[in-house]
Amino acid sequence: MQPYSPLTPDLADELRAIVGADHLIYDAPDRMQDYAHDEVADPRYAHMPEAVVKPESADQIAAIMRLANRERVPVTPRGAGSGLSGGAVPVYGGILLSLERMNRILEIDRQNLVVVVEPGVVTNDINAALQEFGLFYAGYPMSVETCFIGGNVAENAGGGRAIKYGVTGQYVLGLEVVLPTGEIVQLGGKRVKDVTGYDLLHLMVGSEGTLGIFTRITLRLRPLPIARIVLLIPFADVPSAIAAVPQVITQARVIPSSVEFMDRLSVQTAYDHIGERPPHPNIGALLLIELDGSSREQVEAEAEAIVDFVLEAGALDVYVGNTPTTERRMWRPRQILAEAFKVISPAQSLEDIVVPLAQIPDLMPELERLSHKYDVSIPCYGHAGDGNLHATPVKKPEMSLQTWEETLAALLEELYQVVSDLGGTISGEHGIGSKRAHYLALALDPTVIALQRRIKQTFDPLNILNPGKIFASDAL
Ligand SMILES: Cc1cc2nc3c(=O)[nH]c(=O)nc-3n(C[C@H](O)[C@H](O)[C@H](O)COP(=O)(O)OP(=O)(O)OC[C@H]3O[C@@H](n4cnc5c(N)ncnc54)[C@H](O)[C@@H]3O)c2cc1C
Repeated sequence: MQPYSPLTPDLADELRAIVGADHLIYDAPDRMQDYAHDEVADPRYAHMPEAVVKPESADQIAAIMRLANRERVPVTPRGAGSGLSGGAVPVYGGILLSLERMNRILEIDRQNLVVVVEPGVVTNDINAALQEFGLFYAGYPMSVETCFIGGNVAENAGGGRAIKYGVTGQYVLGLEVVLPTGEIVQLGGKRVKDVTGYDLLHLMVGSEGTLGIFTRITLRLRPLPIARIVLLIPFADVPSAIAAVPQVITQARVIPSSVEFMDRLSVQTAYDHIGERPPHPNIGALLLIELDGSSREQVEAEAEAIVDFVLEAGALDVYVGNTPTTERRMWRPRQILAEAFKVISPAQSLEDIVVPLAQIPDLMPELERLSHKYDVSIPCYGHAGDGNLHATPVKKPEMSLQTWEETLAALLEELYQVVSDLGGTISGEHGIGSKRAHYLALALDPTVIALQRRIKQTFDPLNILNPGKIFASDAL
């Protein structure tokens, strides 16, 4: 156990003086309940904070960090709490630092093609504000309507358009960061190139709230695509759908903005959840392919090439969405899928394994094997275009909770080993957090883990910022 101190009424008074009485929750468990978990379904990963603070500036956050270091109280930064690895959960109690009040878009700089935002802006709101200028920010996690941009940077979030546009880190040009010890630093800026010293900016990206708290983020923008087409493509079975994924790129010679995959159970669950019938009676798997570009002719030509190819590759049909309404309707089942599975069974483990694209066909039979071996369902869906799949072990109703917990631990270990053997890794976008910390050694070499621990120690000598994340033991 860490040598952390309890958050006494005197310390709460000091926090109140920093953020204002209205922005501190202390000694009110009912009001802190929402801050005790993220979107991980398993209640074993939840933990109550001792206080919730809602600062409005980097200076206030710096003062909180200085206080936390002086008193040895842990601090856990939190965005929207949509995370899927327990990252924003205060596993040692202490101070939960919510960024929810820092939600302003500070500057849209059209000359430099950047936007400067505070960390608590909902990711989708950035694009809503940019639309009138013909610009867009390319990050597109499926939680885009709820997650915050600060959380995206902390997780280096991927999502539905990574195959063409890459992940969050590729768009982060600058960060203002409050370090665990309370100093405020500026990393990067509006410049596209920068090789001045170590790239601390990108060390911060994906650091899961353990190396610093982002208080201002400068993001690179792109011109808004003029045309978009969505193709919904049912297949009779998983192998033919999955085999088509790499070939869409290599044979149809098109890089779509998205290639999403759903197996039969995922399709059924998603469409049941929204009260609609799946687009074909014999669906064994579904691909959702989105194309975007700078002219309608270009996008239509690319769509034609893909339609020809997938029909030859065994698609049952192809449905085309080329208006905002049809596109939204086609995306909907995919967007609500995580939520739909959670409603069916909270005893589940949403994974985000990733393998090289060409190894996806080898992964699918392994999932089936593990499903039989451990007698659990493992529906699978996700960002097939970048090899990142949400295989989701789900408890069968007849299995006891205790057996499920034991089974899941063994199953995950074997699943992660399979993924690793295929040249993949245990998390493509959701992060390690507390949920996968015990499995880190399956994915990283001991020398690399030791190096990462030393980095953490350099930034945070007292292990005050978000302890219990990434590394299984906090013996730094
Ligand atoms: C339905 C659903 C769909 C999802 N789809 C995707 C997807 O397609 N791709 C994807 O990558 N993820 C996805 N996620 C996971 C989640 O939305 C992302 O990880 C997202 O980036 C988390 O943002 P948040 O604001 O909710 O962060 P939180 O969950 O609040 O926190 C996540 C981590 O970031 C840290 N953090 C938060 N803000 C800051 C800050 N300002 N400074 C430093 N650290 C900070 C926290 O300490 C924590 O470690 C999905 C989640 C759900 C529920």
